[in-house]
Amino acid sequence: MAKRVKVANIENCSGCQICALVCSFFTSDEKRFSLSQTWIKVSRQKSENRFQVELLPQCTHCGLCVKYCYYGVLTTS
Ligand code: SF4
Ligand code: SF4
Repeated sequence: MAKRVKVANIENCSGCQICALVCSFFTSDEKRFSLSQTWIKVSRQKSENRFQVELLPQCTHCGLCVKYCYYGVLTTS
């Protein structure tokens, strides 16, 4: 079965947005970093220093964001 990317350790998320930038770069034809053209969204939870990470339906589960998340938030299974 094909591997799926999942959010495993959300409490470790720093909100750095590297996952989103990597996704935008490798999935865009122009090879451009853009937080408005990415298939993973990072948002800060209201009045807390915590973050929410959501994979959008367009995500191809290529796994690149897992590789570049240095905080171990994302995983494949
Ligand atoms: S999931 Fe990882 S790469 Fe993405 S914002 Fe959180 S810490 Fe950064
Ligand atoms: S698995 Fe690939 S397509 Fe999906 S969010 Fe991560 S980098 Fe983007």
